Amino acid sequence: MSQIQDNYKEVRRKIDEKCKEIGRKPEDVTLIAVSKTKPLSDIEELIKIDVMDYGENKPQELRDKFEMVSTPVRFHQIGHLQTNKVKYIINKAVLIHSVDSFKLAQVIEKEAAKREIHRDVLIEVNYAEEDTKFGVKKEEVLPLIKEIASSFRHVHIRGLMTIAPFVENPEENREVFKGMHQLLLDIKSENIDNVDMSILSMGMTNDYLVAVEEGATMVRVGTAIFGERDYS
Ligand SMILES: *Cc1c(COP(=O)(O)O)cnc(C)c1O
Repeated sequence: MSQIQDNYKEVRRKIDEKCKEIGRKPEDVTLIAVSKTKPLSDIEELIKIDVMDYGENKPQELRDKFEMVSTPVRFHQIGHLQTNKVKYIINKAVLIHSVDSFKLAQVIEKEAAKREIHRDVLIEVNYAEEDTKFGVKKEEVLPLIKEIASSFRHVHIRGLMTIAPFVENPEENREVFKGMHQLLLDIKSENIDNVDMSILSMGMTNDYLVAVEEGATMVRVGTAIFGERDYS
């Protein structure tokens, strides 16, 4: 058993344990292994133990890994997506977590329609309104969803995503996660055509267990699985 395999299993075990403790079904929480900046060989290690979901933040890196990987797996576009880079991932990313403008949705629609495919997306929410983060403000989420859902036929909104603030103590993000869950439920209750609010993508290495407690259905964990990243 390699270190990366061990780490993955440990994170998965903690999620399962937390789910049981609070009465959620473990299979309702997808663990996305965030493999950004890491070599393909790290992904191959996890493929050996049947891990299917990987997160990348750079479109070209997602494309390259998608093309080189030995077994088809699911790649999630979790980082900011510029409109001119949609073409790299449109037929490769299983889910785009980072839609934050009508313009971006419009380009996804155009590229998907061209290829006669459909694409699932999440709306990225800058819940804590940090200047350094992408995403829409909470009060802009519902109007944006209504606009996208009524305009496009190849783009399907499946839920919300957020990157919570960097904090020392994960408890500090509980209110953010709670607020995101409430926002998801509020939007769900609108029963908007072509929208299903089934996915809540939140929680990273530092705070994924708090996110699970507050209703995350996808957590995105990098460091705890693959170790520290080297950006040099
Ligand atoms: C890098 C990244 C993660 C994973 O972060 P860790 O703290 O290493 O778990 C999750 N989500 C997004 C959007 C990221 O860019």
